[in-house]
This record gives sequence, C-alpha cells and structure tokens, in this order.
Amino acid sequence: MYIDIDVHHGDGVEEAFLQTDRVMTVSFHKWGGDFFPGTGALGDAGVGEGRGYKVNVPLSDGVGDAAYLALFRAVADEAAARFQPAAVVVQSGADSVAGDRIGVFNLSSRGHAACHAHVRGWGLPTLVLGGGGYTIPNVARCWTLETGVHLGEEAPGPRSRLLLERRREEGQRARLSARVFPRRRRLLPGRVASAGAPSASRFDPRTIDCIENPHNTPSP
Ligand SMILES: [Zn+2]
Repeated sequence: MYIDIDVHHGDGVEEAFLQTDRVMTVSFHKWGGDFFPGTGALGDAGVGEGRGYKVNVPLSDGVGDAAYLALFRAVADEAAARFQPAAVVVQSGADSVAGDRIGVFNLSSRGHAACHAHVRGWGLPTLVLGGGGYTIPNVARCWTLETGVHLGEEAPGPRSRLLLERRREEGQRARLSARVFPRRRRLLPGRVASAGAPSASRFDPRTIDCIENPHNTPSP
C-alpha cells in the first residue's frame, strides 16, 4: 500500500499500478486550477483490475492540521482495513507543510508527522521516502521530526519553527492563517499574511465509497 502526502498528486506511482489490484495507492494532494500535475480527481479510482484500488483525496488551498488529519486517518484506515496491506510505503513530500515555496497547504510539521505516527501505529513493515519540499530548512526539520517518530523518539530541541518563504511564482507570501496557527503570530510577528481562514477541504464521501467497493480481493 502506497500513501502519498506530498502536496502534488502521486501520479507516477498511481499510473504504474493503475490496472492492478496488487497495490493500493492513496494520495492526498492539492487539486484544481492549474496546479501541477492536474491529475488525481476524486473519481479516479483505477482501471480494469485496478478499479477501487486507487484512492484520491483532492484538497483545496490552505487545508490545516485538523481537517487534514481527520481526512488522513479516516481514509487511510478505511483503505488499510479493506486492502489489508502486507507493507506500507509512505511518500513524505514536505511541500505540503506551510510556508513551502510551491505548496499551498497549511500543515505544521507536527501535523505532517502525525500522519507518520498514525501509520506507525498499524505495526506494519513501513518504507518511508522523501519527496517534494522547496523551503529547505522546513524540509530538514520536518523529516528530522518524522525520523524521530519512526524511531520512537521525540526530536530534541525547541518546537519546530517554519520559515515562511515568498512564493516564487507569484511573489506572494505563503498563505498562512493566524486563526489556524495562532502561535505563529507570536513566533513570527509581522510575517503572517492576513489571508483569512483557509478554504474548507472539499472532501467528498464518495472517496470512502471508492474504497468500500473494490471489485474483489487483491490478486496474489
Ligand atoms: Zn510535490
């Protein structure tokens, strides 16, 4: 089972296993507008034998820890319960963390790491991969924290502090919400964009329906 929390859709891996039921792929990603790569719509569930084994969770800009983690736990748990994976691969792109130069989500590094803690709780053999991440200090902090999660150790040092980079393409500050991360107002005075509340993630219960209706058990 492959789980992708990079801000971009896990299009390459999904395509590699599109027509097989031997691998379930689950991707949480920004979708809509001209955001790269443009694939990973809610209804994209696989083809032929693979139908029902490709799960896509398209999200809007600004999704934060609470909404993301609620979705992650619900969808990943349901997928794992249905698929009964023998092993898990996590693609841990850190471009879904707030302040990324390219990403548009509003996750804290602890929220990102909480996805790992959840998967670790399944007690399955797990391979963790890097992925995207374009504000390098944030990537290092995030992956250090997550290495600690998998080793069962709290990362030393003060609470992770994210660097808020200007978005390269638009010259805009990363869209952060003081309402979602009230601490950041104190940590980085004057650097919080007043973008207002993040847009609600457009979770559709059909995502669960896709998981609930695989056509059969996976092939050996
Ligand atoms: Zn990415």
